[in-house]
Amino acid sequence: MRPTDRTLETLAVAAGEEPFRTGSEAGDVTSPLHLSSTFALPGLDSEMSLDDVDPDAGEFVYSRLSNPTRHALEKRLAALEGGEHAMAFSSGTAAIFTTALAVVEPGDHLVAFDDLYAGTRRLLEEVFATRLDVDVSFVDATETENVAAAITDETAFVWMETPTNPGIELCDIAAIAEIADGADATFGVDNTFASSYFQRPLELGADVVAHSTTKYLNGHSDSVGGAVVTDDDALAERLEFLQQVGVGDALSPFDSYLVLRGLKTLHLRMRQHERNAMAIAEFLDDHDRVSAVHYPGLESHPQHDLACEQMDGFGGILSFELEGDIDDAAAFLESLEVFTLAVSVGGVESLIELPAGMTHEPLSEEEREELGITETLIRVSVGVEGTKDLIADLDRGFDAVRRRSAVADGD
Ligand SMILES: *Cc1c(COP(=O)(O)O)cnc(C)c1O
Repeated sequence: MRPTDRTLETLAVAAGEEPFRTGSEAGDVTSPLHLSSTFALPGLDSEMSLDDVDPDAGEFVYSRLSNPTRHALEKRLAALEGGEHAMAFSSGTAAIFTTALAVVEPGDHLVAFDDLYAGTRRLLEEVFATRLDVDVSFVDATETENVAAAITDETAFVWMETPTNPGIELCDIAAIAEIADGADATFGVDNTFASSYFQRPLELGADVVAHSTTKYLNGHSDSVGGAVVTDDDALAERLEFLQQVGVGDALSPFDSYLVLRGLKTLHLRMRQHERNAMAIAEFLDDHDRVSAVHYPGLESHPQHDLACEQMDGFGGILSFELEGDIDDAAAFLESLEVFTLAVSVGGVESLIELPAGMTHEPLSEEEREELGITETLIRVSVGVEGTKDLIADLDRGFDAVRRRSAVADGD
């Protein structure tokens, strides 16, 4: 549990680093990067057995098992999510894979949001359903009763994501926690899009939370990693076994160092991401070439009230529907100078992409249609640059679309 006398801002700056300040010879103010793959042991007949070394007491054996830099990061991730145990993984995908593997067995049933990160959806379909004989149901979880209706006697795991990508849809974490609890199923939430700063699912009743630290937690688009946080001791033990021994997919020391460094400004970045995203959402909402804007901060978002209830802010990711065809969308995207055409989200720089042709291209046409992913749906990860420059850049995009229609009309 997060110590009640410390705010999230203070934890973001320093949680997990105290041992280096007070315990190291040099008194480092920031975590050193421990690259060593193995650590000198005190002696052969020491009390220390491989199974119960205590990293909190400065005991380390081998870096796959635990490493001082990764351990500092794991302490901070736990503090920020308000959980007991955190584990850092080599990617968000590894974090989600390992969590699912720690929960389900062949023959179990799993209920997931249909609007999941495309990679997670493929992981559940192509690994868990196809290879591991897990029965997977995808449901529209914006309506809580669809989750309740999908639960069976075999349901062991409920996996949600909120807000989702690229539909920016929400599900009600507290209500789904109650349903999962009633069914004795483990309830996990991918909290990547909101970040620990704007949403803490454990406080709302989730059993386990995952992140792609690649996105907001690291925040600088220079590291791929993942995290899992839970209060459940038994689940944490299974997860640690898989992370350290069963799968061996822990985060590297260097990436741990980068995420620790990125986290120090999580609160500052998130506030600016949100300020810019709100301004852009309002600008797009008023634009005559835009037929829809999906951003939970807009009162017109169908789940704006739920966002106000379960989130502390609306985040920095939005999507919008450009009026026109795929060539208009291409003209728009290719004319931008401040936004970079790239997949991924959550970095300080603004990124923009076309889900139908990029992130969600691997889905079938029917799946895309079901999720409302049209050929002109554009996703924006709003960075922390100057608001004025970002809006001027989008204006440049709309000018390119106008010029294109003028040429097409022959005038
Ligand atoms: C990026 C992302 C993932 C996958 O994380 P990687 O670090 O790319 O493996 C999972 N969930 C969400 C919501 C994401 O945005």
